[in-house]
Amino acid sequence: MKQATFVIVGGGIAGVSCAEGISFLAPDESIIIISASPMVKKVTNIRNLTKMLSEFSVEERSSNQVFEEFPNVIILHDTVVGLDHENCLLSLASGETVQYERLCICSGAYPKLIGNNPHIVGIRDTDSVQEFQKRLSKSKKVVIVGNGGIATELVHETSGVEIVWVIKDKHISATFIDPGAAEFFQSRLKKGDTTEEENEERTTVKRIKYTVDEGKASQGAALGPDWHTKANLQGLLESSNVSLEYSCEVKNVLDGDAAWPVYVELTNGKLVGCDMIVSATGVVPNVDVFKGCGVAVSDDGGLKVNWKMQTSLENVYAAGDACSVGWDLAPQWFQMRLWTQARHMGTYTAKSMVCDIRGEELLQDFCFELFTHSTKLFGMKVVLLGLFNGQTLDDSYEILLRVTKGVEYVKVILKDGRMQGAVLIGDTDLEEMCENLILNQLDLSSFGEDLLNPDIDIEDYFD
Ligand code: FAD
Repeated sequence: MKQATFVIVGGGIAGVSCAEGISFLAPDESIIIISASPMVKKVTNIRNLTKMLSEFSVEERSSNQVFEEFPNVIILHDTVVGLDHENCLLSLASGETVQYERLCICSGAYPKLIGNNPHIVGIRDTDSVQEFQKRLSKSKKVVIVGNGGIATELVHETSGVEIVWVIKDKHISATFIDPGAAEFFQSRLKKGDTTEEENEERTTVKRIKYTVDEGKASQGAALGPDWHTKANLQGLLESSNVSLEYSCEVKNVLDGDAAWPVYVELTNGKLVGCDMIVSATGVVPNVDVFKGCGVAVSDDGGLKVNWKMQTSLENVYAAGDACSVGWDLAPQWFQMRLWTQARHMGTYTAKSMVCDIRGEELLQDFCFELFTHSTKLFGMKVVLLGLFNGQTLDDSYEILLRVTKGVEYVKVILKDGRMQGAVLIGDTDLEEMCENLILNQLDLSSFGEDLLNPDIDIEDYFD
């Protein structure tokens, strides 16, 4: 039997950030990471865009490389197959057992698949991208199902193939953006260069203010950011073409014939033949192995954690995609299974466990005060802050919009004159101002539409 003060399951961003955090806070304590994957994830090139918003790269490295500077960390390349929480024991596939004083489960999530036909591919890790790439190189037509970040990236990055993009919403990329921003990106779906007309229109700045009334509102070890840049996502054809099937889902996946290897029957009645179906319809927390011991599980399948990241089992914590937050959330923060949150949660859980073992007071980390996410959609910088799609505002809020076609899309959400969230597409340079205004909840009523007037340097008012 092996033993350590701190045992972590998972070598993804949450698990590695947790181990690094403990090593920093308690360098003399023993740490074991158990990871089913031989490579672990390391956050590098961190660039702080504001106090709370950062960009970073994620690299896959061998475990020895990542932890060579932390002699108190041991990595076991093994799979956890059982938890005996009464005796603080994990059993591993190899037959080994590991005893812990504090356990942190960071076992991530796996993609929801729309069926188990061999022509369906789910994108999750390096292996699945390689599989996708291999099949794509022999494909003329693929159906991509899903409307989140992964589906959007795939549609944008894949070339040389006909794509049918099946989305259940009325507009593209609904996880991150509203119909207005979807419209803004629409031309980028054509995968060609911008036209002269578009170039001319780029000089036009449109500013709009509108109010969303109840019932009429718009809704808005995994891979890392830029995962697609390392893969050549090229199909068989010379050119690419994307067609969209809005407001529909996959009803059935049917066997192929001489024309196509597989067919997709959609809820709008269409039958689409293709070489491959990509299922990018979200993830399910990967925690089945722990459910047998009676740990509380949330409706979305994650291990329920309190504000200290503790599960319902004594001395057992969870972080990253595997957990579901169960505390009273700050008004402008919510959980989304993303890198940034996996990293924040891993680091914070390290602090929570170390404080617990030392009997020290813990204060909740400031990162849970404001939702922040920085990403790229259709090759453009996208920053999402706070309640960027009016989430939890009961469909009653005001929107200020500034659009310069092909250049920037700025949307801020106001409730009772106070900023609740923002979507910033392009190099807007507004992230710091918006972050401050969301956090300090200043009454902005007196500014009206001037808040987004490009001729007024609004930041001068708030310094
Ligand atoms: P993971 O990275 O999934 O790590 C889980 C770890 O647990 C793995 O090492 C695994 O081997 C191990 N494990 C699982 N079960 C066991 C077991 N029983 N025993 C031992 N080890 C086990 N987020 C962004 O913010 N930006 C993006 O651009 C972005 N792009 C994405 C693209 C794709 C294709 C996917 C799938 C996700 C993307 N995400 C993105 C989401 C992001 O990758 C995840 O939120 C993040 O990786 C979660 O980290 P994690 O450490 O919780 O889990």
